[in-house]
Amino acid sequence: MTQYDYIVIGAGSAGCVVANRMTQDSERTVLLLEAGNPDTKPEIQIPLSSPNLPGSELDWGYFSEPEPYLNNRKIFCPRGKVLGGSSSINSMIYYPGQSSRL
Ligand SMILES: Cc1cc2nc3c(=O)[nH]c(=O)nc-3n(C[C@H](O)[C@H](O)[C@H](O)COP(=O)(O)OP(=O)(O)OC[C@H]3O[C@@H](n4cnc5c(N)ncnc54)[C@H](O)[C@@H]3O)c2cc1C
Repeated sequence: MTQYDYIVIGAGSAGCVVANRMTQDSERTVLLLEAGNPDTKPEIQIPLSSPNLPGSELDWGYFSEPEPYLNNRKIFCPRGKVLGGSSSINSMIYYPGQSSRL
């Protein structure tokens, strides 16, 4: 049975970076576990190609509880369930923060 020094749960934005950094030291062994499938859908790799990745089989499909200040609506909260995590279903849109407001 293979043994690992570290196990990283979730191959999303953070998990992939952490696992990559840790394996730069060749002495360490790291197991990266992901609940979703590989990121083979072409739409994942094409900027703005599909607004339909949220809500697809690549999404965990979370909703909030009923929000009392929003007429008890349940708010859709997309979270990626695929290699790359939420960054694989965000259509490669990037809104940078404004440093002047930090
Ligand atoms: C539609 C959409 C648009 C976005 N747009 C922007 C934007 O414009 N600018 C911006 O800065 N951010 C944006 N974000 C947010 C950004 O993508 C996320 O904040 C970021 O990807 C979160 O990284 P993370 O590593 O915390 O989680 P994730 O990338 O979500 O990774 C978590 C991973 O863990 C896996 N996982 C969960 N539970 C388990 C388990 N039990 N076992 C194994 N694996 C598990 C999941 O499947 C997933 O792959 C957007 C997100 C979405 C969904």
